[in-house]
Amino acid sequence: MATKRVFDYIVLGGGSGGMGSARRAASYGAKVAVIEADRLGGTCVIRGCVPKKVTFNLAHTFDVLRSDAKRYGIHAARLPESTEGPDFSYARFKQMRDAYVTRLNGIYHRNLDRENITFIAGFARFKQPVEDSEEGLAVEILDAQGAVTEEIVGAKVLVATGGHPVVPTDEETKGAATHGITSDGFFELNYVPKRIVVVGTGYIGIELAGVLAALGSEVHVISRHDTVLRTFDPDMQSFLLESMKKQGITVHHYTHVDSVDGKPIDADRAFQEGRNLAVTLRDVRDGATNVLDEVDEVLFAVGRAPNSTQLQLPEQVELGKKSYIKVDAFQATAHPRIFALGDVCGIAELTPVAIAAGRRLSDRLFGGAQFSTSKLDYTNIPTVVFSHPPIGTVGLTEPQARKEYGDENVKVYKSKFINMYFSMMGVDNDMTDKPFTLYKLVCAGPEEKVVGIHIIGLGSDEVLQGFAVAVKMGATKADFDNTVAIHPTAGEELVTLR
Ligand code: FAD
Ligand code: NDP
Repeated sequence: MATKRVFDYIVLGGGSGGMGSARRAASYGAKVAVIEADRLGGTCVIRGCVPKKVTFNLAHTFDVLRSDAKRYGIHAARLPESTEGPDFSYARFKQMRDAYVTRLNGIYHRNLDRENITFIAGFARFKQPVEDSEEGLAVEILDAQGAVTEEIVGAKVLVATGGHPVVPTDEETKGAATHGITSDGFFELNYVPKRIVVVGTGYIGIELAGVLAALGSEVHVISRHDTVLRTFDPDMQSFLLESMKKQGITVHHYTHVDSVDGKPIDADRAFQEGRNLAVTLRDVRDGATNVLDEVDEVLFAVGRAPNSTQLQLPEQVELGKKSYIKVDAFQATAHPRIFALGDVCGIAELTPVAIAAGRRLSDRLFGGAQFSTSKLDYTNIPTVVFSHPPIGTVGLTEPQARKEYGDENVKVYKSKFINMYFSMMGVDNDMTDKPFTLYKLVCAGPEEKVVGIHIIGLGSDEVLQGFAVAVKMGATKADFDNTVAIHPTAGEELVTLR
């Protein structure tokens, strides 16, 4: 084999965290290589945030056409007769969305070129037995057939290999792996299923259920509890459930999917038509079963697992629960040359978290003495669920605050209102299908420090960011009260709560 190329920093995975860290390291003059087994951009760009948000925007446009346009007196505006016809083609939309993602992949490549970062296509793993010379650790690159094409050496190596969706085993749900799809499969669909079962009520299940319902699917959501988004503030959970019902989504509570039955799937499936599946649901309380038939797709959104087990990690690198890589507050593993961040570590699996952790790590490793303690603070991370309507949340939920500070030290402020966007329409239309907005501040201590903000309603995805700065800075309710409102907006309700 030819002489091994030697780098200051080898980054495994060209997704959110890997790219963020590689580019920051290169900005300090480090010699960096990024190895990517797929296209550059990672989950977020290829099969996550980006195509999801674009489809969410499409769903929003359908909502506007379905009812809002008419309510504003635009009588010419109408929904296309179907999602596949002369007026609108979902298949065509999908092509446009794919082209957008391809454009982003290109931008990522150009960024690497411009910043003199070496890109290596292939699957990376640590060489075994471990080769750790003075220059660094040996990493192997494999081609698609599994053959080693190159060995390179890195003084420091970052594992930013992300994760993948999990599917229940046949013991848990017979036929899940054979007949089901995951969020990856959702982004392959060239059609809008007429009837779909969505299993799981976390971020992905909720977001995709909302989008599909807006596009006209009959959506059945399977929850193993009496709620959805179980880790969110209880008011957000109940409000969202109500909104999902208004949207026409059927939520099956305390339900387990026993089996998915259908004809064998074609290996070269074009994702153009429904699968005619029969889905057996079981109420876990009394064991009663019920079969949903003529189901086009069953989408499993039951969580994700880290891409850590095929990396041949040196034994010092510890794996924790579900094989997530264990790191300290500085993203360091127990091996002095190996660092890890993002979804492969399983803490706050969000793109901006992976990017921020990556940049801070490179500041510390390559940015000089002034960054010697640089690390990401994982507290008060704001997050949005692109549900219908969207939810924004930062800080503690009400139960978490009560547990941490004691009931007597927690004060909650809430406002439920109709956004002016809808209230105008209410003049001569009944609003039963329109979601209200609910804003909630959770305050603690005598100074009423704002320790949690939970908002649901039109525009909440955009409203939260600035308020998250206030929470991060330790703002109190009085600081909110002292801020002059911007009128007329929904956000102003957060500074006028009583
Ligand atoms: P990734 O972005 O997954 O990158 C890992 C990269 O490593 C991949 O490109 C992979 O191909 C590559 N790789 C893996 N193993 C190897 C190997 N051995 N060798 C070489 N390359 C390898 N987050 C948000 O903040 N907002 C959202 O709206 C949002 N929506 C989402 C919607 C969906 C459907 C999904 C699935 C996720 C969403 N996320 C969202 C989460 C977000 O996508 C992830 O948190 C983020 O992409 C994690 O970045 P990462 O760098 O850790 O991993
Ligand atoms: P989540 O962990 O958010 O949710 C998993 C869901 O699946 C939960 O409702 C869980 O139920 C349920 N579940 C787990 N096992 C089973 C089972 N065997 N049968 C039925 N239900 C089951 O995972 P997601 O896959 O939705 O998302 C992964 C991560 O990706 C998120 O945590 C988030 O960090 C990130 N993401 C972020 C987005 C954003 O920022 N907008 C959007 C999409 C993803 P239970 O509640 O009972 O545990």
